Amino acid sequence: MNIHEYQAKEILSAFGIPVPRGRVALTSDQVERAAKEMGGRCVVKAQIYAGGRGKGGGVKLVHHPEQAQELAKELFGRKLVTPQTGPEGLRVRRILVEEAVEIAREFYLSITLDRESSRYCLIASAEGGVEIEEVAQKSPEKIHVLSIDPFTGLRPYQARKIALALGLKGSVCEDCVELILNLYRACLEKDCFLVEINPLVVTKTGWLMAMDAKINFDDNAMFRHREYPDMLDYSQLDTLEINAGKYDLSYIKLQGNIGCMVNGAGLAMATLDVLHEFGGEPANFLDVGGGATREKVAEAFKIILQDGDVKGVFVNIFGGIMRCDVIAQGIIEAAGEVHCTLPIVVRMDGSKVEEGKQLLLESGLNVQIGENLGDGAERIVKMLG
Ligand code: GDP
Ligand code: MN
Repeated sequence: MNIHEYQAKEILSAFGIPVPRGRVALTSDQVERAAKEMGGRCVVKAQIYAGGRGKGGGVKLVHHPEQAQELAKELFGRKLVTPQTGPEGLRVRRILVEEAVEIAREFYLSITLDRESSRYCLIASAEGGVEIEEVAQKSPEKIHVLSIDPFTGLRPYQARKIALALGLKGSVCEDCVELILNLYRACLEKDCFLVEINPLVVTKTGWLMAMDAKINFDDNAMFRHREYPDMLDYSQLDTLEINAGKYDLSYIKLQGNIGCMVNGAGLAMATLDVLHEFGGEPANFLDVGGGATREKVAEAFKIILQDGDVKGVFVNIFGGIMRCDVIAQGIIEAAGEVHCTLPIVVRMDGSKVEEGKQLLLESGLNVQIGENLGDGAERIVKMLG
């Protein structure tokens, strides 16, 4: 789960990490007032669930409150496109106004879960800032990585080694050691998948400060943090994803024109691969999970049909816990309700499969039955061709 920069900074600050003074604003008048409070010269930062804002015009230094207000008027309501948002961009609904800081040096610092080693790893570079992706690609030796032993945790000497590798000396080095240890503590206590400070800066006056912050909570630990869902900014999420979330379905948007309903992540991946094999392009996939009910299948089907890119639907279900006749009923119910005339191919197997197929064939829908995964994929591609 994503949160905004200003929320991430509140968390980091609570763990003793210095961040610039700032205020979140919802209107351009508030931006002006906040800018006055910061002394006029300030940084106006669009809050969206994506980075790369500096390059996309979402982070700007201004010199007067009026200038801040003008900029806010341009930003509010607009869809900001950055190298990370994709061409459709993300709408700006909140703006962070911060005191401008004179930066001497910019570093990169993050802790993220490495799924391969099942450990947190600390990543740091002396060449932080907006070009970090390029540094990682062109000079990977400038990126320091430390895998953290979950038993011993992050030790001060390890943090010091990183701070020294960043070229820090004296009191700033010691501040950095403390900051790294605090970052690790925040990461653990808040169950983060990622905590990232880019740039972490040394100011011209010699202090360390987190100029930007990104936190991604680990979805698997949500049950331990009842307050997290309240932190979500729904304006940043795909409406279909929100709807899917309400029914405990996972919906993923893709670029093609075939809507896919599957049960299980593995089957979803296989379905996408086989569709590709036959020249089809999935518009999305919706995983209904193991023990879905008829209502859940119906909701899933409706969500798929609400995606304007969908020109046909491919259902690939293995009915183990789930009965095929129940799935068929769900599809028929949903398709009837929204008067769906799109081509549908259903490939299913498992309990009550014959009953399920029978129901579908008698439903009057524009439906074909796939004998197997390959046959089903071929059929939906042909029906759309
Ligand atoms: P991102 O592009 O989405 O990662 O947004 P950032 O918050 O990292 O801002 C982009 C860049 O703006 C940073 O790398 C800094 O170089 C610069 N920046 C942000 N705040 C300040 C500030 O207060 N003073 C100065 N001089 N530069 C800033
Ligand atoms: Mn940044």
